[in-house]
Amino acid sequence: MPLFDLRLAAASTDPLTEEASDAPAPARKKAKTENKPKKPVVKTADKLAKLGLKSDIDLVLHLPMRYEDETSLTPISELIPGHVEQTEGIVFDNEIAYRPRRQLLVKIHDDKGDELTLRFLNFYDLQVKQMAIGTRLRVRGDVRGGFFGLEMVHPTVRPVDDDMPLPLPQALTPVYPSTAGISQAYLRKAIDNALTRVSLAELLPEPIARQYLKPLNVPGLLDAVKTLHHPRADSDENALIDGTHPAWTRIKFEELLAQQLSLKRAHEERRTRAAPAMPRCHADDDALLVTRLLKMLPFALTGAQQRVVAEIAGELTLAHPMQRLLQGDVGSGKTIVAALAAAQAIDAGYQAALMAPTEILAEQHARKLRGWLEPLGVSVAWLAGSLKAKEKRAASEAAALGTAQLVIGTHAIIQDTVEFARLGLVIVDEQHRFGVVQRLALRAKAQNAADGARDFQPHQLMMSATPIPRTLAMTYYADLDVSTIDELPPGRTPILTKIVSDDRRDEIIARVREAALTGRQVYWVCPLIEESETLQLQTAVETYETLVAALPELRVGLVHGRLASAEKAAVMDAFSRNEVQLLVATTVIEVGVDVPNASLMVIEHAERFGLAQLHQLRGRVGRGSAASVCVLMYANPLSQTARARLQTVRETTDGFEIALRDLEIRGPGEFLGARQSGEAMLRFANLENDGWLIDPAREAADAMLTSFPDAVTRHLARWLGVREQYLKA
Ligand code: ADP
Ligand code: MG
Repeated sequence: MPLFDLRLAAASTDPLTEEASDAPAPARKKAKTENKPKKPVVKTADKLAKLGLKSDIDLVLHLPMRYEDETSLTPISELIPGHVEQTEGIVFDNEIAYRPRRQLLVKIHDDKGDELTLRFLNFYDLQVKQMAIGTRLRVRGDVRGGFFGLEMVHPTVRPVDDDMPLPLPQALTPVYPSTAGISQAYLRKAIDNALTRVSLAELLPEPIARQYLKPLNVPGLLDAVKTLHHPRADSDENALIDGTHPAWTRIKFEELLAQQLSLKRAHEERRTRAAPAMPRCHADDDALLVTRLLKMLPFALTGAQQRVVAEIAGELTLAHPMQRLLQGDVGSGKTIVAALAAAQAIDAGYQAALMAPTEILAEQHARKLRGWLEPLGVSVAWLAGSLKAKEKRAASEAAALGTAQLVIGTHAIIQDTVEFARLGLVIVDEQHRFGVVQRLALRAKAQNAADGARDFQPHQLMMSATPIPRTLAMTYYADLDVSTIDELPPGRTPILTKIVSDDRRDEIIARVREAALTGRQVYWVCPLIEESETLQLQTAVETYETLVAALPELRVGLVHGRLASAEKAAVMDAFSRNEVQLLVATTVIEVGVDVPNASLMVIEHAERFGLAQLHQLRGRVGRGSAASVCVLMYANPLSQTARARLQTVRETTDGFEIALRDLEIRGPGEFLGARQSGEAMLRFANLENDGWLIDPAREAADAMLTSFPDAVTRHLARWLGVREQYLKA
């Protein structure tokens, strides 16, 4: 233990000093108030609870998020700017400077005479005294190359008594996830206490452990936990820090196992809930909507579409709720699959609802599905936030009375005021764009809506054009069934993608003119400006004006997110009728918009977009028979990585491939969207490094669910506890 800590001012942004700032205080308070529990104890317990630490087990499984290496001292001459380092030296200067602002500057030199400045922007008089000239200090912090040479801003500081050297720790120091008001020292103590009380019995049944743990060559659970809290002096430090130590592997396996168990149990649990069975009748029965719809289609379904239609139709016949993800690349033809599912629900006497994340997309669906279904006598209602109150009321009434067989719209569908008479199927397009809350609301609505008397839950079909890589699907979507359309409709000509500097804007504009004058249509996508929606809007308007001026002979339209929906719809309508030849647009057109005659797309500042997003955008062209071109326009200078990313998009037209690259570059957040709840279940494992553990965890989960249901429950309670409820979303 250090003799004493110099508590440095708390206002620093440096986590190192925050940690030292209130170190032993809570522990002391707790001891004092043991008999008469008063505020401070409650407060600390509350804070612990906020961290999810309610029991000894929680504490013991509160594992370090990283380690600090305080085992050695680096001579000042070897300090590397940008690194966190620890060194020791004697104070030879200590002054308060007033420019550019009041600050304490303490200079130390080590035995070799090299100097280091310690800079404190907030400090107490006491500290000035404690770092008096002649004192030996052990300091630890971020090294920077400052104006005065090497410096550390707000390092942790410990005075060292020259007669009684401060021993260096023999092993790494753990740093725990914490929250304001709970110091590392307090947490460490609480965890150590818990460790003495908890036995952390092995919960994995012996046959499971033998088959799945043994090959991993990992320590016992208690042993692993102890190693992580108190690394031994001889432990492999790098492996501890980068999470590849066998002790970490043990923990990650346990955690992934819990996640798999939870998802699979959620999947099984669905089979105990009731949903309306929708019999699939004979396909040649002309009384059926499904049959008539198939007959009137101007195209034949692809093999992949037939396969997924059969998968979905089969599951809809069952009396428990489907929860199926339909994934397929942009343009693979998911809409007709959704329409056929809706038709099956309507044939069985139920209502279907289709919800899309943007009004443009919802409207597009409405137009398409009305075109297919209204001639067959289906009544379709439209429900979106932009409707006038009266229209909205009419649509809601149609839903409530059951006169609307299909309701299409945005999330206005799940507003409180909307009730359904007999909702049997909910289709959610671009599902990852909806939040958990919205999906829960939809489900709750459905629960009391489906069939008056019985507690029915409707079937759910979620569609996504952002293909989910296999490892992700297995970890986060293990409770869903997945259908994949892996084939594009025939007759598509591949899209040619070009990477062009915006120096050549004039040439590109000439290409736009040429395309439009030969009867084709063009999208011009405005730059994404993530920081400011206003700026993005402004840029879109300016781009529109420049293009109108440059192309006086063309009919140019503008669509962006701030447009009133009626205007938006009018522009999109005009574009789909070829009354607008060039559509200037923000990313509102990213999803789902389908105008087959459009064959040229220009994306400005393509380097600002994500890969999957570029792929989505590009998917707006290449939908007809004309050869299509997508121009990725970039602004100079373009970094190596940015160029490499654009090249990936140019070279690959396979959404899965692009999604994988995006996953490598940006991590799983993008894909999960609504499912981020699933991520909350993983504290230790991560897909980038621990993907190899998913297969064994999944197999172990299957085996445990089959043979050891009690062990499943205990394992989940230990690892997920309250976390599990998030997953129900
Ligand atoms: P996405 O999967 O991106 O939602 P859509 O459902 O919008 O794709 O379909 C893209 C286009 O392909 C639409 O114009 C649609 O009518 C058409 N399409 C769908 N299936 C087929 C098919 N089997 N043959 C020909 N065209 C098809
Ligand atoms: Mg679509």
